Amino acid sequence: MCCPRCKGLMDLTRFYDLLDDTGSIAFDAWRCICCGEVLDSVVYTNRTQRPRFTRLRKPQAVRM
Ligand SMILES: [Zn+2]
Repeated sequence: MCCPRCKGLMDLTRFYDLLDDTGSIAFDAWRCICCGEVLDSVVYTNRTQRPRFTRLRKPQAVRM
């Protein structure tokens, strides 16, 4: 797999963390051996399914 940040080589690695809500303590993710980028299914989903940006209303002028 190729790193999306630096195009370096990525290695499948098991990461260990504190217990989360699902009771899981470990997860597998791709880690770039060049820049350290970590990419797992949650990160990938969040990056590919970004919310659509909408135009915000201009702030109203405050009259005193
Ligand atoms: Zn990289």
